[in-house]
Amino acid sequence: MFIDSFKVESPNVKYTENEIQSVYDYETTEVVHEKNVNGTYQWIVKPKTVKYEFKTDTRVPKLGVMLVGWGGNNGSTLTAGVIANKEGISWATKDKVQQANYFGSLTQASSIRVGSFNGEEIYAPFKSLLPMVNPDDVVFGGWDISDMNLADAMGRAKVLDIDLQKQLRPYMENIVPLPGIFDPDFIAANQGSRANNVIKGTKKEQVDHIIKDMREFKEKNKVDKVVVLWTANTERYSNVVVGLNDTMENLMTSVERDEAEISPSTLYAIACVLEGIPFINGSPQNTFVPGLIDLAIKNNVLIGGDDFKSGQTKMKSVLVDFLVGAGIKPTSIVSYNHLGNNDGMNLSAPQTFRSKEISKSNVVDDMVASNGILFEPGEHPDHVVVIKYVPYVADSKRAMDEYTSEIFMGGKNTIVMHNTCEDSLLAAPIILDLVLLAELSTRIQFKSEGEGKFHSFHPVATILSYLTKAPLVPPGTPVVNALSKQRAMLENILRACVGLAPENNMILEYK
Ligand code: NAD
Repeated sequence: MFIDSFKVESPNVKYTENEIQSVYDYETTEVVHEKNVNGTYQWIVKPKTVKYEFKTDTRVPKLGVMLVGWGGNNGSTLTAGVIANKEGISWATKDKVQQANYFGSLTQASSIRVGSFNGEEIYAPFKSLLPMVNPDDVVFGGWDISDMNLADAMGRAKVLDIDLQKQLRPYMENIVPLPGIFDPDFIAANQGSRANNVIKGTKKEQVDHIIKDMREFKEKNKVDKVVVLWTANTERYSNVVVGLNDTMENLMTSVERDEAEISPSTLYAIACVLEGIPFINGSPQNTFVPGLIDLAIKNNVLIGGDDFKSGQTKMKSVLVDFLVGAGIKPTSIVSYNHLGNNDGMNLSAPQTFRSKEISKSNVVDDMVASNGILFEPGEHPDHVVVIKYVPYVADSKRAMDEYTSEIFMGGKNTIVMHNTCEDSLLAAPIILDLVLLAELSTRIQFKSEGEGKFHSFHPVATILSYLTKAPLVPPGTPVVNALSKQRAMLENILRACVGLAPENNMILEYK
């Protein structure tokens, strides 16, 4: 059975006018390596319970979202999709009359189990866990190095059905992105012809310009909060150099000195952190150089990334988790992609392809490391990623994967998968989730027993990792790529905020 909303009644949770307060017993374990009396060592696992208190501000703000790369396939598709939902637009396809929806969004279109009622499982929308911004109410804005209006950009993207595009045109033809920061050294040379809408000046002047843009956007649209998300072209990696971008001070001095190696994406991120505005990176490049992470931590401003986890990598983080979890040893993973959109054209340059290759490559590491029966320490499956630009397939990216594994008694198992991704239709709802969850997480405060004061989550937002290919984590924190673990982490943290235990799937009441 499906219910729309619920309220938790428990001594552990209190709903006040502006807050949900909860007390939560975090059951965890501590592992120690102890010396026995006979001199040998033994691993000891000690369960422990830590008391946490959470408080969530339930006042949902009017949210502004500024996209870097607003006129691209993702930016125009997301904007169109939200307008279509808000306006209740439907359109005729050759199959049926299609209604606007938010399919593919974890927050808007997935559900959670809340309990059982008369022997029946009860589910509710994921978004009913805590008060979240309604995507229909988000005000969009942003930058693009191309001055094409969003209606034409939607046409250029060739993503949405033509009947829908015709209906959306009047809403989008007067929207033109703000000029963006352009540096041809960081993206493929084939993007140069697009760049007719750029901010002039030194790097310091460009940062100041972005700050001014964000202030004006906030003022003009009367929004309470702004989140910025990079969905612009994939950049090449920037070199991380001691003295240049390794610390907050060096990074800021390098901006003042107009150092060439500070990328546009890092400049946008600096502007956001200085303004206290969350910044999310949806592309694979290392926007978050150590100096930027340092800046975000010192200013306590949320940063999250990297690279949307939309198609092939999402499947990989499910399939390899299944294989390794089943005691099957993946030995070779080969992934071919071809795509024909502007992202594909940009990735056809070796230096931008390299960024994508890196972000796709580490995704199985935690799963492999979790099983010492299958893999020797340091042993990895062969893992190769190929990306080719094929204009004809446009935004319908094709991803073909071959997984070869060793099974019982030396046998081999091969799984081959073909995935037509419809790239921007997968990415747009993920962008929505990223900005909605980033906003929500800034309203949550917590403390563990022994901590005097409530505090927010660490500025490096691991809570968003379900949505990203190469989750950015604070230094010294484990990276989790397995999709089911990432989802459970997010859901269980939100459950804790309303005093609910993690979903344990034991269903003991029926055993
Ligand atoms: P796109 O090329 O259609 O759009 C990118 C837009 O960014 C373009 O309009 C371009 O003019 C603009 N741009 C480039 N540099 C800019 C800058 N410095 N400032 C402002 N605007 C700038 O690409 P897309 O398909 O929308 O994808 C966007 C990004 O998302 C890519 O980096 C892609 O790798 C990443 N990504 C996409 C998916 C997916 O499934 N669609 C998944 C993971 C990551």
